[in-house]
Amino acid sequence: MTGPTELPSLPDARFAALLAEARALQPGTVALRREVHRRPELGLHLPETRAAILRAIEDLPVEITQGRSTTSVTAVLRGGKPGPAVLLRGDMDALPMTEDTGAEFTSEIPGAMHACGHDTHVAMLASAARLLAARADELAGSVVFMFQPGEEGFHGARHMIHEGVLDAAGSRVDRAFALHTYANAPSGQIRTRPGPILASADSFFVRVTGRGGHGSAPHHALDPVPAAAEMVGALQAMITRRVSVFEPAVLSVTRISAGTTSNVIPETAELEGTIRTLSEGTRELVRAELAKVCEGVGAAHGCRVLVDIEPGYPPTVNDPGEAERVLRLAGEVLGERHALELADPIMGAEDFSYVLQRVPGAFAFLGACPPEVAVEEVAPNHSNRVRYDEAALPHGVALYAAFALDTLRG
Ligand SMILES: [Zn+2]
Ligand SMILES: [Zn+2]
Repeated sequence: MTGPTELPSLPDARFAALLAEARALQPGTVALRREVHRRPELGLHLPETRAAILRAIEDLPVEITQGRSTTSVTAVLRGGKPGPAVLLRGDMDALPMTEDTGAEFTSEIPGAMHACGHDTHVAMLASAARLLAARADELAGSVVFMFQPGEEGFHGARHMIHEGVLDAAGSRVDRAFALHTYANAPSGQIRTRPGPILASADSFFVRVTGRGGHGSAPHHALDPVPAAAEMVGALQAMITRRVSVFEPAVLSVTRISAGTTSNVIPETAELEGTIRTLSEGTRELVRAELAKVCEGVGAAHGCRVLVDIEPGYPPTVNDPGEAERVLRLAGEVLGERHALELADPIMGAEDFSYVLQRVPGAFAFLGACPPEVAVEEVAPNHSNRVRYDEAALPHGVALYAAFALDTLRG
C-alpha cells in the first residue's frame, strides 16, 4: 500500500493497456450481464444461462466441456507457449426471491433474482476469456475458465471438481482466482486478504423428545421445553469456554419451536441454527461440542436428543502469496486506491473454498456500489433491491486477465 508521504505509484504500461482493453469490451460485458440478469436460474441446472455463456464465447479459440451432472461450462484457452495452467472462476446461479430494483433489465422470472451478482461474474469471466484470447501468444500455459452453477448452497464447485475441472487443461491447475461483486464497497475497489477470507457454514438441527402431558402437571410429563431452552444458553457458554478467544466462531440458534397451545406440554422441541468458523480445527471442535452439550443437557432432563449437523461449505482460505499477488495486480492495473487489504474476514461462506482446499489461489471482492448511493446505505448483496454499478465490471475483467498473464509469464 502507498504510505501517506509517498506519491502514488504509476501503473505499469502493459497493465494500463489491460484496463483499456477491458473497457473496450464493456458493451459485450453489459449485454451478457443484462441477458443473464433477465433470466435468473436457480441451483445446478441453468440451461438458459449456459446457452448465453456458450453464445458469448462461441467465436473464441477455446476448448469447451459441458458438465454432465450440472449445466457447468469449462473453457480452456491454450497459450502460445507451453506452461502450467491457471483457473479463473465465475459462478452462474441466482437466488429464490423476487426482484424489486425497478431496473430496465429486471428479472422476468417471478421468484428468481440475481441478487448476489453472479450475473456480473458470468459476464466478467466471458469478457476476460475474450481479452486473454487476443493475448494468447503472451501466455506460457493454459487458462481454465470455470463457469459454475449452484454456488448458493448447492456445492456446484464440488460437482465440477468431481468432473475434473482442475485437470481440464491436461494437468492440474497450479493457481486459482475468483472475484465476487460486492455492493457494500466503493465501485471498482478490490478487497482481499491473506489467509481466511470467508467462514465455514454448517447448519444444525436438534430435536429434544420428552413425554407430553397436561400443562398443570409437568411432573407427570417429561417436558422438552426447559431442556431446549437450557441448550440455547449452554451452547453460547460452550463457544466462549471451549473455543480459544483467538479463533473466531459463531453459533447462532436461529429457530426454536415447541408446542401448540398454553395448557399442553408437547412431546418434542426443536432447535435450528448455523455454525461459522475460520478453520477446520475449530469447525470440528464446535461440531463435536455442540453434540456433547445438547446430549448432556437432554440427559440431565431425562429427554432423548437427536443432533443432526448438515455440513456446508468449508472456510475459504487464501494463499498468502496469491492474495498479495491480487492486491499488487489491483494496484498496478487499477491504481493503488482501488486495492484494499481487508483487516478481517467476512463470516459468510463460498464454495470456491473447495477449489482453494486443493489449489493455492485467492478469492477477492470487487466493490460495485452505485455512485449515487453511500456505501453504508446501499442495499447489500442478497437484498431484493440490490443494484451493482456496471462501471465496476471492466476492473473485474482486467484483474481476471492480469492474474492469468502474471501467473503465466513464462
Ligand atoms: Zn450469495
Ligand atoms: Zn455469491
